[in-house]
Amino acid sequence: MDQSAIDTLRAQEITPRGHFINGAFHAGETGAQHQVLSPIDGQPLALIAEGSPVDVNAAVQAARVAFEDGRWSRMAPARRKKVLLKLADLIEARALEIAVLGVRDNGTEINMAYKAEALSAAATFRYYAEAIDKIYGQVAPTGHDVLGLVHHAPVGVVGAIVPWNFPLMIGSWKIAPALAAGNSVVLKPAESASLSLLKIAELAAEAGVPDGVLNVVTGRGSVVGEALALSMDVDIMVFTGSGATGRQLLEYSARSNLKRCYLELGGKSANIVFNDAPDLAEAAKVSAAGIFRNSGQVCVAGSRLLVQEDIYEDFVAEVSRHAEAFRVGDPLDLNSQIGAVHSLTELEANLDFVSKAEAEGAERRTGGDRILTETGGYYMAPTVMADVKETDNLFQNEVFGPVLAVTPFKNEGEAIRLANATVYGLAGGVWTSNLSRAHRMVAGIKTGVVHVNTYGGADLTVPLGGVGQSGNGHDKSLHALEKYFDLKTAWIKL
Ligand code: ADP
Repeated sequence: MDQSAIDTLRAQEITPRGHFINGAFHAGETGAQHQVLSPIDGQPLALIAEGSPVDVNAAVQAARVAFEDGRWSRMAPARRKKVLLKLADLIEARALEIAVLGVRDNGTEINMAYKAEALSAAATFRYYAEAIDKIYGQVAPTGHDVLGLVHHAPVGVVGAIVPWNFPLMIGSWKIAPALAAGNSVVLKPAESASLSLLKIAELAAEAGVPDGVLNVVTGRGSVVGEALALSMDVDIMVFTGSGATGRQLLEYSARSNLKRCYLELGGKSANIVFNDAPDLAEAAKVSAAGIFRNSGQVCVAGSRLLVQEDIYEDFVAEVSRHAEAFRVGDPLDLNSQIGAVHSLTELEANLDFVSKAEAEGAERRTGGDRILTETGGYYMAPTVMADVKETDNLFQNEVFGPVLAVTPFKNEGEAIRLANATVYGLAGGVWTSNLSRAHRMVAGIKTGVVHVNTYGGADLTVPLGGVGQSGNGHDKSLHALEKYFDLKTAWIKL
């Protein structure tokens, strides 16, 4: 990557294009728009169409017509594969442009956005494209006078709602398997981070995804998201976001057509360091990256650090040193390691968590403040809060910002108990040289993923999903495809 190419791209004006419905951009029923501010400098960045229920209905109907006439749903999987592979190539060819566009509205630093957003989106489309003509139905082991076939039938119209932290990566985790399986999709990005996903819709059309098969309606969750989730013509909802919105989606489902809702919600993941970790210096470095990269705005972030009591003081000091060493700044400067907090509202909520934690007796070891205020952007120093108790707000609730809660533990039993002492169950980590302990911890920690002697980095080959109030269902891996198919039995008398 080259700084001058990034600087050229960041200077480009962003022209509003509206919703992407039935293969073309539309201003929408009311023509209303909202102003998106850039977290880099707090300045107006782009006008985004403010969708209405009428726009949602138009997109859902386009998706329904496309699904029913079979232009995509009945296309041979090998042909769908070719189109999606082409889309992956188009994304890869324009990866820097797409990454910079996304950074301008979401604030993730460019090195990470390039890989985790643009290149990861290309890889995701490629992965599901390659998979789709290799998945077979089944022949049931029936008696010889009957033939029982189990088909994978696409579910129909998929409604997808995604958040602002990694819009493209998470959006692709939903769109790619849904399309590969033959469904039509109506996607609602976060109101403050729609730009890169609108670009993907445009590239999908260029790659040959037929009109109506992938639609994007932008606007507010409480309007566009609600209308989508209440639609009688949407067959399933796939969602990543907050627990509060997840609950609402279940209500909308109950009030409409009982559509299945797959929810990837928050986390308060415990990263557990034993005194027999193979390399404590490495553990401290990776643990700091595991919470502070992308300003902690990562659903699987290791936001609770549990440290065995005899190494506690030294380890917390080491993690704090790493926290202070991160270069926080302009996310489009290649030298920055951490970019901006997504919005002023998020930044204020993060600062509020810190002051409440101090009031509850936690000790601020480093950070805790807004920084680089002179830029007008939303930046926060990586923050380490030590001696956080199990009952504290900071132990129990997700910050979704660069704030680490550290708690000591005595032994394995206490570590497992503390790890499981929140309503969440998304991710976790354990650092130990003891193989048996590592396996016991993997079994004992109630989450969808447990990292051992590392934190983060799980690739597309493995599923990501939560238990408890972190949600249900899985993104990534072949398992993600399961929700985009209905099993359909043919029972044939011979
Ligand atoms: P976050 O805290 O990550 O912003 P949200 O759950 O508020 O989490 O947002 C995630 C996505 O859910 C966004 O696209 C947002 O617009 C959407 N959303 C918010 N409220 C609703 C709602 N009532 N119905 C449907 N979607 C919503």
